[in-house]
Amino acid sequence: MNISFDTSLFQTDLSLAYESFGYQASLNNKTCNFYKCASYIQNTQNAKIQCHLNIDDVVTIQVADYGESYAIIKGIFKHKSNDGYFYPFIYVDWFENAYKNHNKLDCPIFILRHDGFYRKIFPLTVVDKVRKVHFVHDCNTRCKENHNLENKHYLKNDFFFKAI
Ligand SMILES: [Zn+2]
Repeated sequence: MNISFDTSLFQTDLSLAYESFGYQASLNNKTCNFYKCASYIQNTQNAKIQCHLNIDDVVTIQVADYGESYAIIKGIFKHKSNDGYFYPFIYVDWFENAYKNHNKLDCPIFILRHDGFYRKIFPLTVVDKVRKVHFVHDCNTRCKENHNLENKHYLKNDFFFKAI
């Protein structure tokens, strides 16, 4: 799938993503190739790890300005830079920590932000663990057959990984 971008927010974010790895990009090429998933090799201190990333995965992202945060992958794409190389990026929606817990379930509450308040485009490599994080919708009475997504509250399911 090819998508041409023309919103200034997208361009600003893409420029910042290039700058984050020390690259001054003038984005002459305005076409991005989007993918459903990506596989790549991550080099850690001791090993090379094969990572798989899919649309709608929730991941932890390590970004200098924000610290470790949670985001949902909304897009995976490559952009052809001025030097002729393709660079991989992700496009995310952030989960913003509400710093309170659900009063019955005692899970931390997060708010999913669709707006442009935070940067949304990052080099693929900022995803620091493809250990999936589990978030569930904080359903209310308006969630019937489908989740009512006007309610942007989600619960981080901390208990998921604890074996009994
Ligand atoms: Zn729901």
